[in-house]
Amino acid sequence: MLARALTGTGTRLTVIESADIGTVGVGEATIPPILDVLRFLGIDEADFVRHTQATYKLGIKFLDWKVVGHSYWHPFGAFGAPLNRRPFFHAWNRLRVAGHPLAFNDYSLCAALGDEVRFRFPEPAGDSAAVGLRYALHFDANLVAQYLRRYAEHLGVERIENTVLGATRLANGFIGALQFGDQSSLSADFYIDCSGFRGLLIEQVLGTGYLDWSTMLPCDRAVAFPTAPQVERPPYTQARARAAGWQWRIPLQHRFGNGYVYSSAYCSDEEARADLLATVAEAPVAEPRYLRFVTGRRRRYWNGNCVALGLASGFLEPLESTSIHLVTSGLNHLLEHFPDRDFDAGNIDSYNAELIAEAERVRDFIVLHYCLTERQDSELWRYCRTMALPDSLAERIDRYRGTGRVRPAAGELFTDLSWFYILDGMGVVPHGVDPMLGAVTDEQLKRFMAGVARANHLAMLTARPHDSYFGSRGGPAVAASRPT
Ligand SMILES: Cc1cc2nc3c(=O)[nH]c(=O)nc-3n(C[C@H](O)[C@H](O)[C@H](O)COP(=O)(O)OP(=O)(O)OC[C@H]3O[C@@H](n4cnc5c(N)ncnc54)[C@H](O)[C@@H]3O)c2cc1C
Repeated sequence: MLARALTGTGTRLTVIESADIGTVGVGEATIPPILDVLRFLGIDEADFVRHTQATYKLGIKFLDWKVVGHSYWHPFGAFGAPLNRRPFFHAWNRLRVAGHPLAFNDYSLCAALGDEVRFRFPEPAGDSAAVGLRYALHFDANLVAQYLRRYAEHLGVERIENTVLGATRLANGFIGALQFGDQSSLSADFYIDCSGFRGLLIEQVLGTGYLDWSTMLPCDRAVAFPTAPQVERPPYTQARARAAGWQWRIPLQHRFGNGYVYSSAYCSDEEARADLLATVAEAPVAEPRYLRFVTGRRRRYWNGNCVALGLASGFLEPLESTSIHLVTSGLNHLLEHFPDRDFDAGNIDSYNAELIAEAERVRDFIVLHYCLTERQDSELWRYCRTMALPDSLAERIDRYRGTGRVRPAAGELFTDLSWFYILDGMGVVPHGVDPMLGAVTDEQLKRFMAGVARANHLAMLTARPHDSYFGSRGGPAVAASRPT
């Protein structure tokens, strides 16, 4: 992204990667803005899907989060259509409060497609319900890294394979030069620390500090293994709550990713591995991998002449597939704040304030999934029911309970609709209904909603089995093309 945006500015970019220290190797699920990133880069989506063994993602299906046996959707895209300029979920809530039986999938095209294991592309314009459809990708993170490496090298980014041992500091505290294991060094004006959890520059060299959020996001470990591809690859990520955390299942063209994110306070590594093996029907095709993390963020993302991106900047856990998005969002913010050699302090503060606000809002959204549980069957879930919440989150839940409204700040990643999906999915029914719908009678409302359901049904008719977009059983993908 930097190479693309900085072309012609005289900025030289060098990437340093260590052959001895691999990448974290996970990160397979994304959210819809990933498609904006591909467009920004000028990358053809069908080519990317083919080369990264990607599948389409219409949302996340959550199982067993409220109570065991219950499920709900966080679909991408529209839910119904606005009424009286109010989001459709107010109409849904009004009839819910009045006790009318309603079927969620009648109003969510993504959820309905997902449950039928079908997919279609959105319509670019017109009356079809498919105009409001949105999707993201599941992909093989290692293949994505290779793909983007080729892309960056083509744009003139230099790549050095070496291991950084440390860095010298200038009198003003800035980083002076990187020191490599082979005694060589490299000096630059500006450093981006993408070294993963270790935070090589931002923490080990600059000692920026880390804000630990594990009291509200207690999962701190994961175990993961791939299995062979299945014939039916669902067009969604599955997130099933387990005794000490939750389990993901992500379909790719050539394999399924399976992982158990858990809290070491309530489960040992061996128990987690045994639990995952016991609940995944297929045999692993590679050894299980263990990952450790502490949920939280760096106190500052930009310190002196160093910006931390990715896991070096913090980690919120993978429940809503936000981590890769936060990398690209960080890059967009960095381009808005790209420094000259003076490193204006106000510019740096502005970058930090924007990214901290973004991370805290995403944190609240992820904590929301845990704190509304009604599960009592394990220590983790009993803890989550009563854990202390950030004021910002507690206020939002109260506001929704009272008014059915969520008022996200401008530019928040998760809109009021996303908040509704989780709040509603976890069983929160507001006390009040939106008075703006007062001009519409229940009968008119029901007719309107029947029309929405019909439009969704029509849009389903041109959907195809999700598998039909790819070659069979990990074979070469059929080029998928999206209408433009
Ligand atoms: C369990 C789990 C599941 C996840 N699932 C998702 C998901 O579904 N969706 C999502 O968006 N995100 C997910 N993530 C996060 C995602 O994996 C990361 O955000 C993404 O892979 C970026 O990682 P990174 O580049 O910051 O770090 P890494 O992948 O760790 O890369 C670090 C790089 O720094 C280099 N390096 C490190 N030290 C040195 C050194 N001393 N010298 C030279 N080079 C060095 C390494 O060679 C490597 O290239 C998940 C994370 C975890 C832990």
